[in-house]
Amino acid sequence: MTTYFSYPAPELRQELRRIANAIVEPGKGILAADESVSTMGKRLADINVENTEEHRRKYRQLLFTSDACVANNISGVILFHETLYQKADDGTPFVKLIKDKGIIPGIKVDKGIVPLMGSEGESTTQGLDDLSQRCAQYKKDGCDFAKWRCVLKIGKNTPSYQGMLENANVLARYASICQMNGLVPIVEPEVLPDGEHDLDRAQKVTETVLAFVYKALNDHHVYLEGTLLKPNMVTAGQSCPTKFTPEEVAKATVQALSRTMPAAVPGVTFLSGGQTEEEATVHLDAINRCTDAKKPWALTFSYGRALQASVLRAWGGKDENVKAGQEELIKRAKANGEASQGKYTRGSCQGFAAAADLFVKDHVY
Ligand code: 13P
Repeated sequence: MTTYFSYPAPELRQELRRIANAIVEPGKGILAADESVSTMGKRLADINVENTEEHRRKYRQLLFTSDACVANNISGVILFHETLYQKADDGTPFVKLIKDKGIIPGIKVDKGIVPLMGSEGESTTQGLDDLSQRCAQYKKDGCDFAKWRCVLKIGKNTPSYQGMLENANVLARYASICQMNGLVPIVEPEVLPDGEHDLDRAQKVTETVLAFVYKALNDHHVYLEGTLLKPNMVTAGQSCPTKFTPEEVAKATVQALSRTMPAAVPGVTFLSGGQTEEEATVHLDAINRCTDAKKPWALTFSYGRALQASVLRAWGGKDENVKAGQEELIKRAKANGEASQGKYTRGSCQGFAAAADLFVKDHVY
């Protein structure tokens, strides 16, 4: 094990730091619009729209042609490969539309989840083989950050040592490869909400997983100031009979982070993980109001489902509803922007799908 410094060169460090800090500017967060072709198919099926490349393009066009005020609360957007190279009706590349609004384009670089042999139904995430070349190309094509999602499940014997070690290591390798190519890595170890476990178990598992992740990032010389963490909030399992208040969720989440996440990391961009739009906003707000532990980082959102459920329903695949869909995005982004500063008034943002159940069992992205 080397104990000499082996971080990226000073200019690269400065660049990574600048990007990471811009993403977590006060009142701003990320729109995760990186659904793979098959995941987007499920979202479109919910509103009876066929999963064609043209429909996916039209939907993403709706997102990226929203009024420029959306950039008051959205600092970055995560794209899927296909979307990065698509264009609006008038031929403008999506990546240009996004940048012209002052929003930072990011890219999902993992290639999905595969079973971890010999484990009790656990997984790892693939995509390392050609990652460096892909990152270099994405940087040239306008991206400044990347996302890689690992998944951990709470069960009687899981997550296992094998599962946590493997996922932490693959996240660390991904992160170091991104940094060498000028992309800020968003490190996403998602502990799934599936199960009957209570809040305490979710907290302990999240703490253990994060401890593995930060050990591996250190082992791989990842420059923490140029990274962001995308964790689950600490919530009880979806089937847990006991219900916990937003304040209890916030305390468990902030405590877990404060025990494991170095102050050098600029920020946390939570995933929504199947919470309703309103729950995800209320929890983020409670987290930012929580005073039960130290919080030396920005705490904001990187929501997929909890930013898009109302948008999709308001749009419904119809050209005449594009504006209505865009208004839902702007409203919910503003609500989450307020929540990221602990300034959201509960119930003040009524969306098309604010209370709709967005939980998907064993969610793949
Ligand atoms: P959700 O907010 O829908 O959980 O998705 C965010 C994400 O990017 C998961 O990888």
